[in-house]
Amino acid sequence: MINKNTKIGFIGTGVMGRGMIQNLLKGGYSVYIYNRTKEKALPLIEKGAILKNSIKELCKECGVVITMVGYPSDVEEVYLNEEGILNNIKPKSYVVDMTTSKPSLAKKIYSKAKENDIFSLDAPVSGGDIGAAEGTLSIMVGGDKEAFDALMPIFELMGKNIVLQGTAGSGQHTKMCNQIAIASNIMGVCEALSYAKKSGLDPKTVLKSIGAGGAASWQLSAYAPRILKGDYAPGFYIKHFVKDMKIALEEASEMGLTTPALELSKKLYDKLIADGQEDLGTQALYNLYK
Ligand code: NAP
Repeated sequence: MINKNTKIGFIGTGVMGRGMIQNLLKGGYSVYIYNRTKEKALPLIEKGAILKNSIKELCKECGVVITMVGYPSDVEEVYLNEEGILNNIKPKSYVVDMTTSKPSLAKKIYSKAKENDIFSLDAPVSGGDIGAAEGTLSIMVGGDKEAFDALMPIFELMGKNIVLQGTAGSGQHTKMCNQIAIASNIMGVCEALSYAKKSGLDPKTVLKSIGAGGAASWQLSAYAPRILKGDYAPGFYIKHFVKDMKIALEEASEMGLTTPALELSKKLYDKLIADGQEDLGTQALYNLYK
């Protein structure tokens, strides 16, 4: 049973995790945290989080463990290792992976969790660093309805739009749809801004018009102002976006689906990676248009 006394474990205190953790703390929960690089977790202690030295120690305390790490390989490590979550959390506990990861891995974690009498959901998010900080994420969930309902009060502290999409892996498949839509959108945003500049218009004034018309989008409103300020800090890392596009391309190929716009976007971001820009935010695609 989840209630206000349930202790929440949170693994991954990066760009997204730190905002989400602060919203759980504001909601009145005790939050136990762990991060591979300890220094990145330290500022959250001042906000009331309790730092643990290992996943094993964290799992001993908590009835719910949420993960927001980087890559599928990180997810595999934190869940499936000997010292990982599934070997150390108590039966009847809940685990929620909010990392953007592979649908097949979400299914594998669900099955292993079920064998150990643990409830598992995949629940990737959209809404970026701003959504994480403001508690307005869109949360896309795969797994059993009972677990989804039980965790709803916790999801509601981190997000505004929380939808159960289907069985295990469906949250990750939905997130792939999200990333496919973004892949084209961000190219359009960068091309529109470079066109505005080249044609002698004031791009800020252009945004006043196109940001309120049929071209309005989250990518435009969140990233065009950062591009115009020359702010390429992540946001959303290029290296993570390329990881997502790779997963989406692999899944699409397995389904016999062609996705030419996604392929083009991935090629452009590969150029940025080859140029050493993988730790910049996705808005740095604009660098290709300069
Ligand atoms: P991030 O800043 O790199 O945060 C990931 C954190 O997880 C890092 O602090 C990392 O530790 C930690 N971590 C990784 N592997 C670990 C392990 N084995 N054990 C413990 N901690 C581990 O990335 P982010 O921007 O928060 O993104 C996290 C995930 O959300 C990614 O899958 C990303 O694609 C997805 N996402 C991001 C956004 C966005 O706008 N940023 C939006 C939606 C979804 P270290 O400090 O040691 O690296």
